[in-house]
Amino acid sequence: MANDQSVRVRFAPSPTGKLHVGGARTAIYNWAFARANGGTFILRIDDTDPTRSTEENTQIILRAMRWLGLDWDEGPDVGGPYGPYKQTDRMDLYREAAERLVAEGKAYYCFCSPEKLAADKAAAEARHDPFQGYQRTCRNIDPAEAQARVDAGESHTIRIKVPLDRGDVVIHDAVHGEVTFNAKELDDFIIFRSDGTPTYNFATVVDDAMMGITHVIRGDDHLSNTPRQVMVYEALGAPVPTFAHISMILGADGKKLSKRHGATSVEEYRDAGFLSDAFVNYLALLGWAPDGETTIVPRDVLARTFSLEHVSKNPSTFDPKKLDWVQQQYVMTMSDADFAQTILVPELRKAGLEGEALSHEAHWYEVLASVLKPRTTMPADVVEKSRFLYAGDALEYDEKSVDKNLRKDYAPAALDAAREALAAVEPWEASAIDGALEPLPEATGINKRKFYGAVRVAECGNQVSPPMGESLELLGRDQVLARIDAAKALCGTAE
Ligand code: GLU
Repeated sequence: MANDQSVRVRFAPSPTGKLHVGGARTAIYNWAFARANGGTFILRIDDTDPTRSTEENTQIILRAMRWLGLDWDEGPDVGGPYGPYKQTDRMDLYREAAERLVAEGKAYYCFCSPEKLAADKAAAEARHDPFQGYQRTCRNIDPAEAQARVDAGESHTIRIKVPLDRGDVVIHDAVHGEVTFNAKELDDFIIFRSDGTPTYNFATVVDDAMMGITHVIRGDDHLSNTPRQVMVYEALGAPVPTFAHISMILGADGKKLSKRHGATSVEEYRDAGFLSDAFVNYLALLGWAPDGETTIVPRDVLARTFSLEHVSKNPSTFDPKKLDWVQQQYVMTMSDADFAQTILVPELRKAGLEGEALSHEAHWYEVLASVLKPRTTMPADVVEKSRFLYAGDALEYDEKSVDKNLRKDYAPAALDAAREALAAVEPWEASAIDGALEPLPEATGINKRKFYGAVRVAECGNQVSPPMGESLELLGRDQVLARIDAAKALCGTAE
């Protein structure tokens, strides 16, 4: 058993599905709490439910954890001094612990059949017995007799022997404060099933005790399990950790976040193109508010400042718009080179715009990055906004934009003036290009908005495109002049 006083926390997902947004937030809080306290973060796979746990899900969860950047100090793949870190590999430990409790008189074998249990329950209900739990039928069987029946192969479970004078169970939850559970709700519950498998409440506590877990941070759907777990700690003679039960995450309609609200697994957010840092930031602040105002908490700050005191006990609402906003903030802080390399090039390739051999120099992507960054939430957003750059002579024109900006009597003059200036401008860079165009509206007597509208539609095919200087720089002079010539032919079609 770990006996130092340092913080040890664990995230213990059941691999019955992918890593859910709620689970991810629980993992983040455990990780951040360990880091903020110089403690140890443990990943444990709770796979004791053999019908629903799969190795595939375990791998998906590990991948999601890595993508989230939540590095663990001990776990199934990295090992550690208190392993193994997968419950199915710890079955002997649970059995030994249960048998020790039986030997010490803190647990006992129960031979009641399901029919007997059902009949006892019905009878307790019928007489309005305030105690509706297991009627303790096998509690006082002589231990030697019980052992003989077990040895003879009689079907049995193992139940914990809750002291009759135990009284109410009070926990001091770091999020919910003092929570009292009425002693009447505690019965001698099963710690080992008749099929020889431990129950969740038992296996979890054996693990948490053996692994020296100091703080159990988990979803508040487990709050109701806590009094039973406290009974197991007490039977084992192990210190009870501090509990911190985190509230649910709800959808906009106030119901528990589920598929109906959209993506719920970490994988889906990763695949949609969210940045890990942004996603972790958003989830961390969903229920934890350092000061009620801060919206951006970079990972290193989170790892330094996270504390359970500022975790809300009220449910939080998942707001995809806020997540988008946080993502934009993170996109904006990327360097142009980083944005180009991690977002732009892969997305353009995916869309088939870029070939295997890159056709542009690094600088070209950085210029594009500088104009697209403020206009990007999701990586795929860059594709539509870049398409005009790749269209060559096959630029598609938006008919409405052409009507409004090119099929006008002033348009040929605007294009002629722009062509002359652009043919001569040196160097071919955004600022020089902007500088060359700037005096032209006045010089030609064409309203500025109309002048730029004509040039923009000539070059980009529509009225919405990144800033002019950069757009033209990226197109290159030859293409820019060729598009002006093509657009002049369109002007001629004015009715
Ligand atoms: N395996 C449990 C779950 O996925 C976690 C139990 C716990 O944290 O105690 O809900």
